Amino acid sequence: MAEPLPHGAVIGILGGGQLGRMLAVAAARLGYVAHIFEPLADPPAGQVADRATCADYSDLDAVRGFAKAVDVVTFEFENIPTATLDAIELTTPVRPSRRALAISQDRLDEKQFLNALGLATAPFAAVNGAGDLDRALSEIGTPAILKTRRLGYDGKGQVRIDAAADPASAFAILGHAPAILEGLVDFSHEVSVIGARDGDGAVVCFDPGENVHRAGILHTTNVPARLSVQQSTDAVILTGRILNVLEYVGVMGVELFVTIDGLIVNEIAPRVHNSGHWTQNGCVVDQFEQHIRAIAGLPLGDGRRHANVMMTNLMGNEVEDAALLRETDAALHFYGKTEARAGRKMGHVNRITGRP
Ligand code: AMP
Repeated sequence: MAEPLPHGAVIGILGGGQLGRMLAVAAARLGYVAHIFEPLADPPAGQVADRATCADYSDLDAVRGFAKAVDVVTFEFENIPTATLDAIELTTPVRPSRRALAISQDRLDEKQFLNALGLATAPFAAVNGAGDLDRALSEIGTPAILKTRRLGYDGKGQVRIDAAADPASAFAILGHAPAILEGLVDFSHEVSVIGARDGDGAVVCFDPGENVHRAGILHTTNVPARLSVQQSTDAVILTGRILNVLEYVGVMGVELFVTIDGLIVNEIAPRVHNSGHWTQNGCVVDQFEQHIRAIAGLPLGDGRRHANVMMTNLMGNEVEDAALLRETDAALHFYGKTEARAGRKMGHVNRITGRP
């Protein structure tokens, strides 16, 4: 690994949402300067970052200017256009690397990559056009979920297909975009591992968290997760394998289904992850600091948990609940968003529930 970035070096962050905001705070705590690149005006990260560029990702002059003004570029979301990354890489390293980003941008590539590693996923079939759907359904059966290959998040770009459903209308709902059909996994619960790898190949994983979703959006993460010691070990080892194979530098979230036959990988996110927010109050070094350490060439921090934590996302006007402010053992993290739309992540609360 190259020399660690010195104090005062500039960390460029693509995306100015809450993840970018918390990365910027972590960068500042380590003595770095954060520079956000975000198309929308007044982003949550802009309130805490020292510098911000407000421009579209397709504005390659702005992208090149941003890249030249920073020492390393990272990102808070995965759907970054290829041309934007090409422009950045002319002058400035991007961490984690493009390979992880490319794999996670496409659900078909992602599943094939995971299966090639010997990791279990939901059964799947590619659906590139309406003609593929009947073949895919006869292969996978129902119930199944049709998901767009690209640009899906928080349960968006997905339609469930039951035995009685009209498959053609499901494909129409997705706008006939290239998709995959996934068999429904019979899981008891969902967990995720937040892992980090540095440029020398050291890997540190946080304890797995147990995730509950509401309407496809993460609602709570509880740590410790309900897992046997062996399941926990398996989850951490498989995360380490993914990180190593990709020669990954930074923090990754790996979402898993727990089934009676073992762990099944749902998806990987090449970035800090909502299900890792508990680490802010459960670990000495949280996922945001860990990510900045990795991409800045610093040694990774200690990932041990000193507290059990229940993280709850605060959606819409839940963030205005005054009772939150009077709770003991509850750490509030608000994102500074002024418009509390329903279904919008406005903040989260980490409640300490005990000691390990
Ligand atoms: P995703 O956007 O793919 O992470 O899906 C969002 C949520 O939908 C997951 O966290 C699961 O709760 C559920 N889900 C997605 N794919 C499947 C599947 N193949 N089988 C069962 N549940 C699924």
